[in-house]
Amino acid sequence: MPRRLVLVLGDQLDCQSAAFDGFDRGCDRVWMAEVAEESTHVWTHKARITVFLSAMRHFRAALVADRIDVDYTALTADEPAGPPGRSPGSLADALLESLARARAAGQSPESLIVVEPGEWRVRLALEAAARQAGIPLEIRTDRHFFSSRDDFAKHAQGRKQLRLEYFYRSLRERHGILMDDGEPAGSQWNFDAENRGAFGKGGPGVLPAPVRFPPDAVTRGVIDLVNARFAGHPGSLTEFDWPVTPAEAHAALDDFLSHRLPLFGRYQDAIWTGEPWLYHSRLAQALNMKLLDPRDVIAGAERAWREGRAPLEATEGFIRQVIGWREYVRGVYWHFMPEYLDRNTLGADLPLPNLYWTGDTEMNCLRDAVGQTLTHGYAHHIQRLMVTGLFALLFGVEPKRVHEWYLAVYVDAVEWVELPNTLGMSQFADGGVMASKPYCATGAYLDRMSNACKGCRFDPKQATGPDACPFTTLYWDFLARHETLLARNQRMTMQLKNLGRKSAADMRVIRRQADDLRGQMP
Ligand SMILES: Cc1cc2nc3c(=O)[nH]c(=O)nc-3n(C[C@H](O)[C@H](O)[C@H](O)COP(=O)(O)OP(=O)(O)OC[C@H]3O[C@@H](n4cnc5c(N)ncnc54)[C@H](O)[C@@H]3O)c2cc1C
Ligand code: SF4
Repeated sequence: MPRRLVLVLGDQLDCQSAAFDGFDRGCDRVWMAEVAEESTHVWTHKARITVFLSAMRHFRAALVADRIDVDYTALTADEPAGPPGRSPGSLADALLESLARARAAGQSPESLIVVEPGEWRVRLALEAAARQAGIPLEIRTDRHFFSSRDDFAKHAQGRKQLRLEYFYRSLRERHGILMDDGEPAGSQWNFDAENRGAFGKGGPGVLPAPVRFPPDAVTRGVIDLVNARFAGHPGSLTEFDWPVTPAEAHAALDDFLSHRLPLFGRYQDAIWTGEPWLYHSRLAQALNMKLLDPRDVIAGAERAWREGRAPLEATEGFIRQVIGWREYVRGVYWHFMPEYLDRNTLGADLPLPNLYWTGDTEMNCLRDAVGQTLTHGYAHHIQRLMVTGLFALLFGVEPKRVHEWYLAVYVDAVEWVELPNTLGMSQFADGGVMASKPYCATGAYLDRMSNACKGCRFDPKQATGPDACPFTTLYWDFLARHETLLARNQRMTMQLKNLGRKSAADMRVIRRQADDLRGQMP
């Protein structure tokens, strides 16, 4: 009779995780399940479905090779996914079915073990299933992360405002990362000011293409399954090349450290149409599925700097993303959930325009960002924040709808990291927990940071008229719509002063054009 059943979720593919502490091959068992609901509760991109199913199947194979008994439920191509909105099979259902089978065979486990799930919804569902089955569930701390939920709660205690910077510094000090004799390397905590370059007219030149991981037989099987069973889902699989094993994830890390880290910082905020990767690491998916340990990522980056292979500003900029933002957003998620999901400070209530699912628009910047998202399941941070996110913010899309899109379309999307970034950082729906002011800008910002406007039929400088850039029109309209609320925020003073310089007549035309834009967009 199995003593313990260890539940391993699709974003917990680490055999060193706390779930395996004390695992006894003689009497413990692992449980894993592919369920349709995880691909249908948001209308998930085919690449995101594929990356999870393929990595799970590879993980199962590794456990079996290690003589570990695995109870694995696989999806099959021939079951229809069911009508939209219906959940044909959930994790809780799959677990209850497995437990019922075990009970019938006289094999009921004494207890269930799981590492903290990455999503509130999943945690509640597993707890409810365990209660229903009458078997105790032990939830173990996820030591993949540098900081625990308690650490964050302590950091948040008594603070009027939460900000990344102090949290980041404390983690660096505590873990001795980029520190020299107790001082930050280079006598500076933050090199952000040096990390805001654009490419200039000549463009990025020859970029170091990231290493690719062509689908093996297991992934090809999953691709066939996804193309059959989730045919109506967004995105395509023709370019699928994501890492699905720890070995591939480490190869991706080595490739980034050798070829892209040195210029990561300088071009972190730049955009170039047709160039999805630039100097970004492409590591979030492997990290979030736990194929890669962030300690290896950070140690590798620090070593590259200490050995003179990468400058300090790039290394610090990169490490700040991994030990800073990544840990911080997780803290925010668990600290404020579940009410966080319903926040909507700006009262935005419009549906998400269709172009987010098709890329069908004359706006060059959006067509490029959505297009590569549909092709690869990837866009880099500034595209997510200052193209797709900015447009939804200015347009007035309901934050929950924006959240559902981001959770659906990126291969690295797991709710603990996606939600604070979307709802908080990009939509300002949390009222300033994630960002001290809304990330709002006109098309001129995108003109400065990218080449998108050069080939666009709109003019980023115009707010009205047939050539007006929709970002620019909607920006002034956004400020006017939220003037009272934004006036309470000192960091908005300059932008509101500029708004005040616009004549009432100009503003009337702008507001009418913004309304027309909203009316024309399905
Ligand atoms: C609206 C919006 C939604 C986002 N959704 C997700 C998401 O679902 N999953 C996700 O991992 N990231 C998300 N991010 C953060 C960031 O955009 C991605 O981590 C990054 O683009 C992934 O690409 P990369 O691995 O090439 O990252 P790089 O640019 O190479 O950055 C290095 C690493 O730092 C970490 N990182 C960087 N920025 C952040 C951040 N803001 N929050 C947390 N970690 C960060 C990631 O692990 C990333 O792999 C989102 C950002 C925005 C604005
Ligand atoms: S002009 Fe406006 S819509 Fe066109 S690419 Fe520039 S910012 Fe985007």
